[in-house]
Amino acid sequence: MIPTVQVIGAGLAGSEAALQMADRGVRVKLYEMRPETGTGIHETPFAGEMVCSNSLGSTELHSASGLLKAELNLLGSRFLQSAAQFRVPAGSSFSVDRHQLAENMEKCLAAHPAIEMIREETRELPEADAPVIVATGPLTSPVFARRLTRFTQRRHLFFYDATSPIIRCDSIDSSRLFRGTRYDKGEADFLNIPLDEKAYHEFVSNLVQAETVALPDFEKGIFFEACLPVEEIARRGPMSLAFGPLKPVGLKDPHTGNMPFAAIQLRQDDIRESFYQMVGFQTRLKWGEQQRVFRTLPGLQNAEFERFGRMHRNTYINAPLILDATGRARKRDSLFFAGQISGVEGYVESICSGLLAGRQMARYVTGRPLLPLPRETACGSLLDYVSSADWKNFRPTKFSFGLLAPLDSPREGRKPSKRERKEQQAQRALEILDQWIRREEF
Ligand SMILES: Cc1cc2nc3c(=O)[nH]c(=O)nc-3n(C[C@H](O)[C@H](O)[C@H](O)COP(=O)(O)OP(=O)(O)OC[C@H]3O[C@@H](n4cnc5c(N)ncnc54)[C@H](O)[C@@H]3O)c2cc1C
Repeated sequence: MIPTVQVIGAGLAGSEAALQMADRGVRVKLYEMRPETGTGIHETPFAGEMVCSNSLGSTELHSASGLLKAELNLLGSRFLQSAAQFRVPAGSSFSVDRHQLAENMEKCLAAHPAIEMIREETRELPEADAPVIVATGPLTSPVFARRLTRFTQRRHLFFYDATSPIIRCDSIDSSRLFRGTRYDKGEADFLNIPLDEKAYHEFVSNLVQAETVALPDFEKGIFFEACLPVEEIARRGPMSLAFGPLKPVGLKDPHTGNMPFAAIQLRQDDIRESFYQMVGFQTRLKWGEQQRVFRTLPGLQNAEFERFGRMHRNTYINAPLILDATGRARKRDSLFFAGQISGVEGYVESICSGLLAGRQMARYVTGRPLLPLPRETACGSLLDYVSSADWKNFRPTKFSFGLLAPLDSPREGRKPSKRERKEQQAQRALEILDQWIRREEF
């Protein structure tokens, strides 16, 4: 008889893993602690909630996120199939109504005859032989995180990153703002707040002087470079924001006919267009300070904040020491890790690792060998990297083209541009994955 698999955590990775196994006839018990026990960040009781930005990244194949999603579509990701139904306009970025999507994921899981959802916090790692996928995410409950350290035999690693504020649309005065995307790519969906040089420097000066939430001494300075708080970027130099999240290149303010000195972009957060999110404004400013400083921006003088930006803990295991390239624990055959706790970073990467853990576990419980994905693919190279990186400096990792096996360089003729090389790598990845899926019946 095929044993029932326990999945702990019904987030992006856990939901995807559960549906992949259930679709292959494997029975699943899916444990989720919300709504009884919250994470402090999730807002709904639903499975598969995207906790911050509503963007699943670019759809363009020469972008890392675009290739990863294209592979996940080939592999039959249930999360992405569901996400496609709740897309909101955002140029070439795949943005969704997060709440409707989570509600729908919850319905899919509840309706599946092979899935039993159990609303309780898991406090112990199940016994050694039981097939288990741990997908408790960056906000793993503290009790379970402590129990896990018994298995990993090392202190958990953690760092801090931060979320951006969300503003109610009807509180924004859009008369001084303009719609548009950089270089007019896709539809004109972002609301842009243009700043001239004087306004920019005033804003930076306000930002760096504003009060932030204090961190405990031993946790100071542990920021994740890819997700720095906006005030932290501003502290690195007076122009660092103008070359970072406020860069104006590719934008033209129709009121002046010129490129502004700097621009803040607001991205639609839901289908009804009730909310806008400040792009790249992850912050650990105190909430009162966020209101005070961000209301000095043009158009936001009366802004009402649906949610303030905040800091959060991020729990993950030292994957290179613990996992192999299929996401399985090296020292326990029946145990897999998936999602951000397994050492990947980001929504799409978490979905990817959930999908693969679910498929590999379905093979394991039905007595078939596990199959790492080819290194030339985004999914394969990501898990390969996470399981083999330098463990001493390990940080959760996003997929990037640098992880892919390089292309052979052309012996003669013109060298392809960076973008052309990425397009060729993406094409190769999709062809290899397609053939591999058919050959291996994965
Ligand atoms: C505040 C924040 C903002 C983020 N913003 C972004 C972003 O904008 N874009 C991006 O690409 N990535 C973002 N990430 C990173 C990451 O992609 C997401 O956290 C993603 O949801 C991770 O997927 P997951 O399945 O690993 O975890 P989650 O989606 O968090 O799912 C884990 C689930 O496990 C449950 N759980 C935890 N402990 C237990 C337990 N002991 N028993 C039972 N259930 C438990 C939780 O309630 C949760 O539902 C953010 C992360 C955080 C924390």
